[in-house]
Amino acid sequence: MPLPPQTTTAVQDYLEQIHQLIDAKGYARAVDIAANLGVSQASVSAMIQRMDAEGFVVYEKYRGIILTEKGREIARHIIERHEVLTRLLRRFGIDEDTIYNDVEGMEHHISGQTLGVLTMITEELESNPALVRKLKARLARG
Ligand code: MN
Repeated sequence: MPLPPQTTTAVQDYLEQIHQLIDAKGYARAVDIAANLGVSQASVSAMIQRMDAEGFVVYEKYRGIILTEKGREIARHIIERHEVLTRLLRRFGIDEDTIYNDVEGMEHHISGQTLGVLTMITEELESNPALVRKLKARLARG
């Protein structure tokens, strides 16, 4: 499914972070979002207010930041892209920092169609170590 065109890369990154924090800790605090995204807490507060107004999250003083159904759906799509792209690149032994940086960019831009192709390729590679060895040998030859 394509991502709604009106969601910016920044909104997608926030939704991804909030979903992961809630998964890991049960709640998402502005301080953790700020630390993970490398932005100030003031920026997080402003963004959360905007995302609340746009229907991606609900911010309640005591319950904290909650994803709406729309917000959760976008977060899941981004996380799915992140996971598939990471699994694919790890097969080739690329270092984790490079994978993370590349995936954080790519996850916002690939279409559902391309994701389907890359998911299929990833699954094939995961069940075919001989092919991975062959491809890695080619990479090593340069
Ligand atoms: Mn990501």
